[in-house]
Amino acid sequence: KIRVLQKGTENLKTVNNAAKKSVYEKSKGCPTHWSLLRFILELLILKAKYRWSDSSFNDLLKLLSWLLPKPNFILANTYQTKKVVSPLTLGVERIHACRNPCILYRGKYKKLDKCPTCGASRPSNGKKRKKKKGAPDPSEEDSCFGDENKRRIPALVMWYLNPIDRLRRIFANPAFAKLMRWWYCERTKDEERLSHLADATLVAKI
Ligand SMILES: [Zn+2]
Repeated sequence: KIRVLQKGTENLKTVNNAAKKSVYEKSKGCPTHWSLLRFILELLILKAKYRWSDSSFNDLLKLLSWLLPKPNFILANTYQTKKVVSPLTLGVERIHACRNPCILYRGKYKKLDKCPTCGASRPSNGKKRKKKKGAPDPSEEDSCFGDENKRRIPALVMWYLNPIDRLRRIFANPAFAKLMRWWYCERTKDEERLSHLADATLVAKI
């Protein structure tokens, strides 16, 4: 728990530094409102909106770094750029699945190479993932493949967005937290009427 807290504090420091840092020196004309964090977020929004590939984004960063007055703080590649904003993103768990799709490769199926129901192979036929520039190799999501197959592409992947992360964010804001607790703390309970889902006996048992 302490390690998680320490990591959280370090991540927060990285975000905080990026929020204070300008893209290049203010004395050389960088507008005050253009913090490095804002610049990174604006660029990543464009990347997602127009589906720029990681390599095209790397080239854009290189060009910006050449163009802007030096010293500037443009990051070297997509991986480094995303790392700065990673504390602000919601976590996603990528779970391999059978291509047909019968099972998820988790729990007792986690280490299997083919589906126990239909026999389909877990990785896509022979395809291998390209190593991302600056990213650690192999990526963690494929660590359940054997060592020599760590860069093999799974036939199907399910993205699981854990609701707990979202709930934590909501409860971190006192105003939202109050609204989230309203149904329990503040709603008027009437024994005769069903005025809220939580009044139902079945919901009360959950
Ligand atoms: Zn299957």
